[in-house]
Amino acid sequence: MKKRKRIWMISMVLAITAAHGTILAEAQETEGSVEAITQTTEDGTELDTKILMETVKEHIDLPKETEQVSGCKPTEDAVKKGSVQQVKQVQKPVKKTADGQTLLDVSKGNITIKSSGATGGGTSSETSLNPLGYRIIGKTTSYYIKVEAGVTTDITLDNVSVTSNSGSKNCMDVSHANVTITLVGNNMLSCGVQNYGALVKEGMDKTELIIQCEHAGEKGHQCDKDTCGSLEAKGTKMHTTAIGNIIANRTVKEESGFSNLTIKGGIVNAQAGEHNCAIGAACGSYANGGTDTKQYAENIRIEGGIITAKGGTLCAGIGGGKVTPVDGIYITGGTVYASGGKYSPGIGSGGAETTESEWEKTPEGFNVSNIVISGGSTLVKAVGDKNTSMPGIGCGKYGTKTPGTATNICAVPDSGYQGYIQDGTSENRV
Ligand SMILES: [Zn+2]
Repeated sequence: MKKRKRIWMISMVLAITAAHGTILAEAQETEGSVEAITQTTEDGTELDTKILMETVKEHIDLPKETEQVSGCKPTEDAVKKGSVQQVKQVQKPVKKTADGQTLLDVSKGNITIKSSGATGGGTSSETSLNPLGYRIIGKTTSYYIKVEAGVTTDITLDNVSVTSNSGSKNCMDVSHANVTITLVGNNMLSCGVQNYGALVKEGMDKTELIIQCEHAGEKGHQCDKDTCGSLEAKGTKMHTTAIGNIIANRTVKEESGFSNLTIKGGIVNAQAGEHNCAIGAACGSYANGGTDTKQYAENIRIEGGIITAKGGTLCAGIGGGKVTPVDGIYITGGTVYASGGKYSPGIGSGGAETTESEWEKTPEGFNVSNIVISGGSTLVKAVGDKNTSMPGIGCGKYGTKTPGTATNICAVPDSGYQGYIQDGTSENRV
């Protein structure tokens, strides 16, 4: 079984390679190839970056360690994961699923999960938080889902559809809470209200959002579209967020910036409106017309799943919105397709128009540090904006001026695996 998967991965990459007329580096050239990612990022001359970790034990003798990759520090010490602790309280059943979660239907009203239990969603209010979590169903264009600050909970999204096109509301807000979302079936969160968002997590506190499929934790599980749940998160207007913080609160320091997201699995498709990245910190989280909060995107982790992230204009796919720096994107598994908008990379910080001279005051707003790709069967395909000659992974640019500074961007395959990096100039946006 393992061997079959391996052959499939190789075939897929070869197919992609053939389509674009470029050739994968030979196994023996890996060290040079891995170095190339830093080069590419720093001078910003290449458009695409494709990285594949694949086992090559049968092909060549590999060094036991990967320390030969100079300047590459896969340390995660700098960014601590938020602690997640279950709140143990006696729960009083309302409507329960077979696995003990409280069943809530968003088509019947706003759902709010508080430390004292859930309200709304067609159920009478609980008197305590269900330690087994909540299963949400239903389709709505009127209601929202919110987890209050300070709550730690598990939420199963079971074929949920929330569309928000009017009023001042997000589709689902988990800001300042520790939330694990398990995806079952096909879920959609779509926000068309300017300055608000689809799946919202605000601020850079220690709280954590986890997104996973039902098979998270199963040894050897690789997500696929037939067996794993999906989430489509969309911002459909300018300044709407797909997954991240929102522009409505970006001038409040505690609400600005985005941190501590871990995607463990699931099929996640995220696309933001203009000036917002698909997954990360919103436009203006760092600097915004004199009310600068200096916040950014920190500690975004992808451990599995199939993730497609398409940033809006002047934004990365994963990382920063317009003029928003990034520290810490760790991809250790899964398949990631990321593309950036104008003056922006697929993964990294967002850019800005040359004509917007105010950004000369905050050149650090384009900086990126600690983007580390590792693991075994990890595939990352990152595409920068073609028209403005942006790298697949790296810094957004302030128009035609110098891009930000990139620090510690590297690919480090696990011991026993081989890393392939392919640069090209002919990829299209995802
Ligand atoms: Zn899965």
